[in-house]
Amino acid sequence: MDFSLSEKEQKLWERAKEFTAEHITPKAHELEKRNEFPKEVVQKAYEAGLMNLHIPKAAGGPELPLLSETLVSEATGYGCAGLATSIMCNNLAFAPLVIGATTEQLQTYVEPLITGKEAKFGAFCLTERRAGSDVAGMTTKAVRDGDEYILNGVKCWITNAPVASLFTVFASTQPELKHKGLSVFMVPKSKNVKIGHIENKVGQLNSVQSEVIFEDARVPKECLVGKEGDGFKIAMMTLDKTRAGIAAIATGVAQRAVDEAARFANIRHQFGQTVGRFQGISFMLADMGARAAVSRWQTRYAAWLADRGERVSKHS
Ligand SMILES: Cc1cc2nc3c(=O)[nH]c(=O)nc-3n(C[C@H](O)[C@H](O)[C@H](O)COP(=O)(O)OP(=O)(O)OC[C@H]3O[C@@H](n4cnc5c(N)ncnc54)[C@H](O)[C@@H]3O)c2cc1C
Repeated sequence: MDFSLSEKEQKLWERAKEFTAEHITPKAHELEKRNEFPKEVVQKAYEAGLMNLHIPKAAGGPELPLLSETLVSEATGYGCAGLATSIMCNNLAFAPLVIGATTEQLQTYVEPLITGKEAKFGAFCLTERRAGSDVAGMTTKAVRDGDEYILNGVKCWITNAPVASLFTVFASTQPELKHKGLSVFMVPKSKNVKIGHIENKVGQLNSVQSEVIFEDARVPKECLVGKEGDGFKIAMMTLDKTRAGIAAIATGVAQRAVDEAARFANIRHQFGQTVGRFQGISFMLADMGARAAVSRWQTRYAAWLADRGERVSKHS
């Protein structure tokens, strides 16, 4: 059993931590007060090669394993969960396409977004007001019309939607079949794809979520990913693969809490000594450190299993 990172993974981990120390941790709080998409920092992350890690080489990406994504998520999450979400959201948006699209589709729709000078964004459009955990309850529909599909419906809580160029949209092509009637489409931004209500959150203010409104949005039939009816399966495979990345952000947040608490416990003096020297405090710090470590290893284990092609619904 070998728990060590490869040399390449170790370098990526160090690079992501250095990026966080320089560009995220010192700026996160000030940026949060603006409550807007933190474009400058995300652009720097793009230039540093910390985005779009799982895109296949055939479509211009580095084709790194999921484990690499969790390293970047944890490192950036340590600095700011919201910024980490903004940086890593393309992984979620493009995962259904990496799973179900052809190389030609990836080259046409994804490659131009990940190979230019400027960072471009995708958005993963699954959730609706009445369809959260119950994905099959969605009402967004896609109707075939000759060589096109016409999409109508409203998605909500869609990360990076206001800055996205490409929307990965789950819609029903056969509502009577419920989850078996769901399909997934690549929908480029157009005048028929509108941004609605911006979600108002109490935290993660360095990431943006909004409604996306599809009003007779037409796409060529070539924008269907896989076959009609593949949508539910692709959605579940996507969530299995991307949950580890979200857990990695949470692990970064947990580790930061441990480090900040330990730092404070080592400088705050009461009763003639630092409070960290009281056993009641050091027990708590030890428990916190243990929980963060367990979270890290469970997350990396789930990613490692997924990279080996195993099912990770339970682990992730
Ligand atoms: C910051 C943020 C970013 C997001 N980004 C995206 C995005 O990019 N794209 C996207 O499509 N969505 C996104 N979402 C939406 C997110 O995926 C949904 O919130 C999620 O699917 C849960 O749905 P819900 O919020 O409607 O909760 P609900 O499904 O209404 O659940 C409410 C509560 O009931 C519990 N519950 C539900 N069903 C059951 C059950 N069968 N048994 C027991 N308990 C149950 C849940 O665990 C939860 O505690 C985002 C959400 C947030 C907060």
